Amino acid sequence: MSATKSNAMSEHAPEIESILKTVSVSLAKDAPTRSFCTVHDTLDSREELQDIRRNIHQHPELAFNEVRTAELVASKLEGWGYTVTRGVGGTGVVATLRSGSGKRSIGIRADMDALPIHERSGLPYASVHEGKMHACGHDGHTTVLLGAARQLARTRHFNGTVHLIFQPAEEIGAGGGAERMLSDGLFERFPCDAIFGLHNHPGVEAGTFMFRSGPFMAACDTVNITIRGKGGHAARPHQSIDPILVAGSLVMALQSIVARNVDPNETAVVTIGTLHAGHAPNVIPDSARMEVSVRSFSAEVRASMESRIRQLVTSHAEGYGATADIDYVRGYPVLVNSEAETEFARQVAEELVGPERAIGNFHRIAGSEDFAYFLQQRPGCFVRMGNGANQPLLHNAGYDFNDDNLTVGAAYWTRLVERYLAE
Ligand SMILES: [Zn+2]
Ligand SMILES: [Zn+2]
Repeated sequence: MSATKSNAMSEHAPEIESILKTVSVSLAKDAPTRSFCTVHDTLDSREELQDIRRNIHQHPELAFNEVRTAELVASKLEGWGYTVTRGVGGTGVVATLRSGSGKRSIGIRADMDALPIHERSGLPYASVHEGKMHACGHDGHTTVLLGAARQLARTRHFNGTVHLIFQPAEEIGAGGGAERMLSDGLFERFPCDAIFGLHNHPGVEAGTFMFRSGPFMAACDTVNITIRGKGGHAARPHQSIDPILVAGSLVMALQSIVARNVDPNETAVVTIGTLHAGHAPNVIPDSARMEVSVRSFSAEVRASMESRIRQLVTSHAEGYGATADIDYVRGYPVLVNSEAETEFARQVAEELVGPERAIGNFHRIAGSEDFAYFLQQRPGCFVRMGNGANQPLLHNAGYDFNDDNLTVGAAYWTRLVERYLAE
């Protein structure tokens, strides 16, 4: 941005400047919203939050090993006056703050874990742990929630109870931190009337919030298939049962499920991610192995995909005289946002950043998220937040969380709490 500008706004990124302009117009029109947090109110914490975010980024920790991160989070929260509970669901942290006599309560969740990726961002605060990296922005999600924690503690413009949930191990696909926290009694120990979460979204301008009511992110299951034939000499195939032939035929047949069995109004994905068989050109191997990723957006489609895959694999193998072992591993379920809470959260975002940056009917996302488990037990909303239009994708070795989102995200959470627990 231009170095010649001298007003206070020129210290901020273009996205934030534009938000500040939009919001000052909307506030002038709508005076009562003045009592709730605005992006402006959180701007003075930008530097502090950026330091925390880059500190976490530099020291990434994998699933259920977020020891340093959890301690950093817990000690900040204690310093701001929260009641902090450590070790919830492994390395999870829950921080509670009460204000007034209100009986309502709200939960907000951030994830803390990194990925087994070697960082190639070239940033001065790049990971110091070889082969580990915050390539999904969980360093940012954690810091955004800390920013809200700081703001809520110093203003306390709410009437009720806030539980800030710092979750371990979102990235492992099954048996992750959400399930662990829930089975550790999360909602019994820290009752929440509703639950909210966010994830950054590269490809969309920073400071933009994308909502969708109903199914928003996919269920993701993994199928490990072993085809067992009968090995033999390549020159005598009639005396063998060739598992590679079965596997090859299955690769094509499995694609027929989405094309022929799934309702055209629904969507699903079947991806055969690995296929391994054989060691030599003149040998028919005994077995072939495949790993398949299956994504769907409803419980019905999910169940029918599983049954069709089992049928096709079993009957295919049988048809060629082989057998098949099928290990069908159910990963995270469909993430379903509840209607009222999603509209509420969208309104909060609209008040904060204006209607152009609060998108109400964003497309479904084929990625999965274990926040879905919280939404199975409580109403709530998971929102995607733009990470910048030309940023590297999630899980890319060049990825970085956009620090312009720290204050906007913190203002979003703060205002959401203030509005949900309004006096
Ligand atoms: Zn991820
Ligand atoms: Zn993520």
